[in-house]
Amino acid sequence: MTQSATELPPAAEPTEQRRPALSPSRASDFKQCPLLYRFRAVDKIPETPSKAQVRGTLVHAVLERLFALPAEQRVPAKAKELLDPVWAELSEQNPEWTVLFEEDGGADAANWPAAAGELLDTYFSLEDPSALEPQACEQRVETELGSGVRLRGYIDRVDVAETGEVRIVDYKTGAAPREIGEVKAMFQMKFYALVLWRLRGEVPHQLKLLYLTDGQSLTYAPDEAELRRFERTLEAIWQAILKAGKTGDFRANRSKLCNWCDHKARCPEFGGVPPAYPGWPEPDGGDETVLDRAD
Ligand code: SF4
Repeated sequence: MTQSATELPPAAEPTEQRRPALSPSRASDFKQCPLLYRFRAVDKIPETPSKAQVRGTLVHAVLERLFALPAEQRVPAKAKELLDPVWAELSEQNPEWTVLFEEDGGADAANWPAAAGELLDTYFSLEDPSALEPQACEQRVETELGSGVRLRGYIDRVDVAETGEVRIVDYKTGAAPREIGEVKAMFQMKFYALVLWRLRGEVPHQLKLLYLTDGQSLTYAPDEAELRRFERTLEAIWQAILKAGKTGDFRANRSKLCNWCDHKARCPEFGGVPPAYPGWPEPDGGDETVLDRAD
C-alpha cells in the first residue's frame, strides 16, 4: 500500500543498540537543571513516582484503550470500566506502584481509582472522543536533524483532519501548578511539532494541551520560523549535554521546581553530595520513561 502524505512513517522500533537521542523530558531536565539531567539520564537513579504520576499513567493508558474501541463505545461509562483492568495490568508490570496507595492504612488503595475517574470525567467535558478518529495514540516518533542530533519521544495523540491538517494532542494530568507546568508543556509540544515536521515535511497545524486536573485546554499554532529557532535551541542543548558528559560538569540550578525534585538529598544546593560521576552512558543518553509521558 502506498503511504499517503498525511500518514506517519512507521515508528522506528526500539533496538538494543539505539543511538543516543534527545527526548523532550530529558532536554527539559537539562534546561531546568543540568544536575537533574545527570541524575536521571547518566546515573539513572531510580525515582519514587508520585501518586499523581501513577494516576496520570493509568489515565493515559485508559484513553489509549478507549480510542482503540469503535467510536460509539467511547463513552464515560466505558472509560471507567477500563480503569480496573488497565490498573491490574500496570500494577502487575510495576508492583512497586501499588505500595504508594497502601499508605494511611490502605484507604487510598480503595479510593484512588475513583480519583482517576474524576480525571476521565474532566476529559469528557473537554472533548467527545466518539467524534474523533485519531491517526495514532501513544505514537513513538524518532528523527534526525540535519546537524545529526537525534530526537525521540512519544506523542499522546495525533489527529489528522480530512483536509490533511495535523493536530498534536497531549493530556496533562500532573499535580504541579499549571503556570509552572505550562512552559515545560509548550517546550514538549514544540519538540513533537518539530519531529512531525521533519517526518512529514509539513508543520503541524495545531498543538493542543488538555489539562485534566482543572478542565482547561490550550491550543497553539506553530510556524516554520519558530520551529527552525527551536531546532537550533535543541542542537545547542545537545551540544551542552555532550560537553558536560565529557567532563562530568553538570551544574545544579536551584529554582522553585526543586520542590518536585526527587534528588534533594544528593544535591549540593541542599547540602547533599552527588555520587561519583559514572561517565557518559552508551548507547543511549536520553530515554523517556512511562512516567515521563504522564506528567
Ligand atoms: S534539587 Fe534542584 S538544584 Fe538540586 S538537582 Fe534537583 S532540580 Fe537540580
